[in-house]
Amino acid sequence: MRVSGLTKISKDLPKIKEKKRERGIHGPIHALAKEISETFGEPKKFAMYLGIIKNIGLKKGYKIFSEIKQNKKIRSPGKLFVYQSTYRSMEIVKKPAAILAKKLKSVDLITPNLKRIILKMKKAMKEASGIGLAANQIGLDMQLFVIDENLAQEYKAPSVYINPEIKPYSKNQEELEEGCLSIPGTWLKIKRSKKVKVKSVDEEGKKHKFIAKGMLARVLQHEFDHLQGILITDK
Ligand SMILES: [Zn+2]
Repeated sequence: MRVSGLTKISKDLPKIKEKKRERGIHGPIHALAKEISETFGEPKKFAMYLGIIKNIGLKKGYKIFSEIKQNKKIRSPGKLFVYQSTYRSMEIVKKPAAILAKKLKSVDLITPNLKRIILKMKKAMKEASGIGLAANQIGLDMQLFVIDENLAQEYKAPSVYINPEIKPYSKNQEELEEGCLSIPGTWLKIKRSKKVKVKSVDEEGKKHKFIAKGMLARVLQHEFDHLQGILITDK
């Protein structure tokens, strides 16, 4: 009996391996993206769904997918999934999320999608009454941050910073209290350079090079820290 049982297992083994391959060797994220794209009749959009689920996480992905699947009246479930996932992913990520503690990847291309992300980041920042917001604060791994439009205008500086380089320009430092949307309720005295040298690209791909001072210098340093995975509690 034991022998025949073993034979059965060894016969089934290739099938099991085959099944694993079908489900996607890269795991549950790939499997879910495949299921969504096929269920919504959009097999070519597999990569798009994969990207979305990587951003919002498996749990949220499943939740939105099952909600939409249950509602038979929806005309374009794929579009609704994209809308819902974008909207829900705008929640501000709080400490100790891992994405807040890593150095973010640089942006290779300015795409229409990136511009949409920027607009949504600005909206999320306003809603949370912040004056700056970095991409990882909405769960995205990219060297990008936005600052308050009024602050940018006051200093005639851009409000969008892609792949920025920000370095101290003066040895003079100043200590001021700072808060962070990812660490609600915490205010800490942080020492920062009074002036910084800024090199950055905006959402139109235009290069900017300038010296920032005052409040702008402080906000830029705070947001630039986020892109390196540094929080005010690490200073
Ligand atoms: Zn912050």
